[in-house]
Amino acid sequence: MLKTYKYRLYPTRKQKEKLDWTLNICCILYNSALVDRKNHYERDKRSLSYGKQAGILKHDKSIILYLKDIHSQVLQDVLIRVEKAYKAFYRRLKEKNGKAGYPRFKNMGRYNSITYTQSGFGIDAHGKLTLSKIGHIKLKLHRNINGIIKTCSIKKEIDKWYVCFSVEYEPAAKKTVINSVLGIDVGLSSFATLSDGDPIDNPKHLRKAELRLIKKQKRLSSKKRGSSNRNKARLSLSRAHKKVSNQRKDFQHKVSRRIVDSYDAVGAEDLQIKNMVKNHCLSKSISDAGWGQFLSYIEYKAEEAGILYMRVNPRNTSQECTCGASVPKTLEGRTHSCPSCGLIASRDYVSALVVKQRAINKIRQELPEYTLVETGSMDDIGYGDIAALKSIPSLKQEALQFIGE
Ligand SMILES: [Zn+2]
Repeated sequence: MLKTYKYRLYPTRKQKEKLDWTLNICCILYNSALVDRKNHYERDKRSLSYGKQAGILKHDKSIILYLKDIHSQVLQDVLIRVEKAYKAFYRRLKEKNGKAGYPRFKNMGRYNSITYTQSGFGIDAHGKLTLSKIGHIKLKLHRNINGIIKTCSIKKEIDKWYVCFSVEYEPAAKKTVINSVLGIDVGLSSFATLSDGDPIDNPKHLRKAELRLIKKQKRLSSKKRGSSNRNKARLSLSRAHKKVSNQRKDFQHKVSRRIVDSYDAVGAEDLQIKNMVKNHCLSKSISDAGWGQFLSYIEYKAEEAGILYMRVNPRNTSQECTCGASVPKTLEGRTHSCPSCGLIASRDYVSALVVKQRAINKIRQELPEYTLVETGSMDDIGYGDIAALKSIPSLKQEALQFIGE
């Protein structure tokens, strides 16, 4: 399996210039390779292959001497990207019955990465990243790499530089004995709620940063079009966007790590199905994107660790009780109160419990290779048994209340 490790780079002023220059030349090469393909196709009605283009590049290098200042694999990778763009184009042509956008030219700002596909990169004795034709760049290796490094990409994001290593690794053996199952509900009132009773909220600093983002957005729209102030405001906004997105990722990485480290199986609602059911509004789709990212972090961390990750049917998770009774609620109704078994708890918490139940049912019915030991589920202990519920340490008391107490 492949995994990407991303680290911040701290190039010197000179190295930045060389990196920017390399990006520009690669961008020009990309666009001219597209033009070559287009011309060739219009003339011969046949596509120009990667091999042919590599031959042209080799010839060009003997004339355009500065191309030698870029590592040969980095240049070849540009042609590989053109090839990929073309393959995707032909695939779209087929799928859409001849209607597909032609691969686009890239402008300088958009062409923001280069890749060393096999060699030409390494880490030196001082912990710096060595890049052929560029130099030794200061690097912050904040976590160790496990596995074999396959490729090395350098990426510019607004004004910061990063290195991404694509690494091949062996995932852990599957844990087939399941001692603990977690259900996750992604909700509206908090970021997510877990079936162990934990509501997870976006951290304060993230919420503050998001508010700042809205302010910056307003400031931008108040500036005159084409003015230098507007430009400044735009740059400031895109920096803030990047920062918030990084903070969000950081938060979601930490939470997903904690979850995968604590459970043998994790179930979450299948958001793709959920989206088809629910109506669309902008803020909703943004938060959905956040959940999608969060669940994808759990999914790949689970795969790495040999943990079972399941998507369960999201239908009516908020309208059902753990006892199976239907408990209808409006979108505003935050409390679950079951007339059948007497369970009163927060809406999202009960949803998480229902998700957990569905995950357990899925293991029982569809995944015979797993052995289920988990006993914390409601139907294992008899959902009406209040005393038994209280004795389960994983269920937090503040999340549960029962009639008659
Ligand atoms: Zn009930």
